[in-house]
Amino acid sequence: MLIDSHAHLNFEAYQDDLLEVIGRCLQEKMKVINVGAAYDTSLKAVNLALAEPSFFSSLGLHPIHVYDEEFESDNFQDLINSGKDRVVAIGETGFDYFHLWQAMEKHGKSVEEAKAKQEKVFRAHIKLAKANDLALIIHGRNGKEDKAAYTDIYNVLKDEGVNRGVVHCYGGNLEEAKQFVELGFHLGFTGIVTFDKTGVLEEIIKWIPVDKMLIETDAPYLTPVPNRGKRNEPSYVKYVAAKVAEIKNMSTEEIIEITGKNAIKLFNLE
Ligand SMILES: [Zn+2]
Repeated sequence: MLIDSHAHLNFEAYQDDLLEVIGRCLQEKMKVINVGAAYDTSLKAVNLALAEPSFFSSLGLHPIHVYDEEFESDNFQDLINSGKDRVVAIGETGFDYFHLWQAMEKHGKSVEEAKAKQEKVFRAHIKLAKANDLALIIHGRNGKEDKAAYTDIYNVLKDEGVNRGVVHCYGGNLEEAKQFVELGFHLGFTGIVTFDKTGVLEEIIKWIPVDKMLIETDAPYLTPVPNRGKRNEPSYVKYVAAKVAEIKNMSTEEIIEITGKNAIKLFNLE
């Protein structure tokens, strides 16, 4: 089954034509996990999942937003309770070193303070995931010079003793990929695979055991070829599947089948 394991139909980019976008998801007979990045978009993700049976939700405060609002675990717990089995994961959470300058310039934080804040919020998400027996959706992004995001994420996951979740839109190197998979984590691949020129993702996809792969759009961002330049949407995840299949030397149908099963199992999708 075609599953977009990471999308943001809860974002403003869809406010004018959400029903049409949902219609195209239904046409594909696919499932979609909409991921929250702050309290308000988490609430929207839950409401979408409660309204549409093929949609699920993940709740969290994205590392780039941890300086804008506090992560209130109790409020998120209330959301989990109201969404019940329509809430299938916690996140996205983790470390983002690409946007650290915002914390420094806009919020007057030092690098150490900015990172410490992200770590505190990340660990609070892990606690919530453990308490509710939910998978984690991890966001990592290296800075232009600071390439430690994935190593720092790995160290926190290992320290917390968690092994269930996905490192979404994977952007680390092969060695780091091996560590996450060894820990039990899945890796998520986006439309970047259709236009990446570095060869790193290809190397990782060739290596990764098929039962550890997920596909995703991260819509509205990261639109795959052949739709570059347009807003992304969940139905385009089929182009990610096709490219992963080409790299794996498998059929697109096989990749859709396997990654669908992986997502159903990891997130316990009904
Ligand atoms: Zn995302």
